[in-house]
Amino acid sequence: MTTNQLLKPITETNINGKIHIGGCNTIELAKRYGTPLYVIDEDTIRSVCKDYKNAFKRYPHTKMMYASKALCTSAISKILDSEGFGFDVVSIGEIYTVVKSGIPLTHVLFNGNNKTEEELDYAIKNGIGRISVDNFAEVDLISKIGGKYNKNIDVLLRITPGIECHTHEYIKTGQLDSKFGFDLSQIDDAITKIITEHQNIRIRGLHAHIGSQIFEPKCFHDEIEVLIKEISRIEEKFGIVLDEINIGGGLGVKYTESDLPPSIDEVADVIISSLEHHIDKYKTNPPTLYIEPGRSIISTAGVTLYTIGSMKQVPNMTKYITVDGGMADNPRPSMYQAEYVAEIANDTTGRENEKVTIAGRFCESGDILIKDITLPKAETGDILCVYNTGAYNYSMASNYNKVEKSAMVLVKDGKSDIIVNRETLEDLISHDVIPDRLK
Ligand SMILES: *Cc1c(COP(=O)(O)O)cnc(C)c1O
Repeated sequence: MTTNQLLKPITETNINGKIHIGGCNTIELAKRYGTPLYVIDEDTIRSVCKDYKNAFKRYPHTKMMYASKALCTSAISKILDSEGFGFDVVSIGEIYTVVKSGIPLTHVLFNGNNKTEEELDYAIKNGIGRISVDNFAEVDLISKIGGKYNKNIDVLLRITPGIECHTHEYIKTGQLDSKFGFDLSQIDDAITKIITEHQNIRIRGLHAHIGSQIFEPKCFHDEIEVLIKEISRIEEKFGIVLDEINIGGGLGVKYTESDLPPSIDEVADVIISSLEHHIDKYKTNPPTLYIEPGRSIISTAGVTLYTIGSMKQVPNMTKYITVDGGMADNPRPSMYQAEYVAEIANDTTGRENEKVTIAGRFCESGDILIKDITLPKAETGDILCVYNTGAYNYSMASNYNKVEKSAMVLVKDGKSDIIVNRETLEDLISHDVIPDRLK
């Protein structure tokens, strides 16, 4: 059993009917910091990191990266850095967050299918470790900026390996018809372009990412075969040795009881066995293996606390229970029908169960957090704890309906620290400008 297979943070306990996380009483957290509140359990993050490091011990040329886009804040970056993880970043904002957290960019990979000149300039100026080159236009841009700062740039070529994985349509990335990376048939042209026109770009390896919330380890086996085969072919054709492969992230987590993601050990075994097998088959040197999980690092560590407000029983139909957050703090259910599990965090002893639908407060009928869940009969003022909200919740949050983004606290050993302040009303209009003629 590894941490990504749990529904709840590892420190979750129920004391006298009240949910505690990281040794903190969630009811007191809600009172002290307000709701909605993102709560992140530090022990769970560190436990997943340990799982990954243990699982890949057998292949010593492994480097762990954290895909920042799952949850990118300064404190979270500090924790991952302290665990020895590098970072996979996708925007100047994520690079800035890492830089301002005092973390060197040596172990940072900049990835994305339309990096702007401003972003690439900032990355290169600050000494980014690797850039994952996504397309032809980017090759010229990287070379130009490298020239400006008189730097050689280490790159990986992002490729679409043509692996179909059973995951949601919007989070599949490795299939052939994808907006990400070079098609296999374009790799040679990309390499030719780089080696003939751009001496300041060094191709270090290949990069792929086949999707997210992946439950089938076999997908990684197939991906690695494509990568190793290409490396071997490239060496033969161009005489250049690529000694790095980055297989992306994507390992799944357990959002509901019926989700049964494989353990990190199981996935690591498949990955390493596939590597060993294909290194042997295609006669390449063992490359450095980069893995860059996001969701599986941070999802289980996070819960969101809400206060239950109004309720509506549609006669003979659904009973709606409305919380003080919803699609602005967690867009995943309305965006791709994501499912979650929740519990009432305060003592509900003696209450009967009922089937309800948890609605958000935002002005969209689609703002439903959880459809049909059985909970003890809820009362206004109860605190609802939604599990597995660490990944792609805060990072996808919006100010829809002009609502302030929620605060985030980090809990450990009975202590809680704010790591993201709740936005204020002032924050909400801080970028607004009224032209003179309207004053
Ligand atoms: C999103 C992404 C990841 C992380 O994916 P998870 O499913 O969160 O693990 C890793 N690498 C790349 C290139 C990505 O786009």
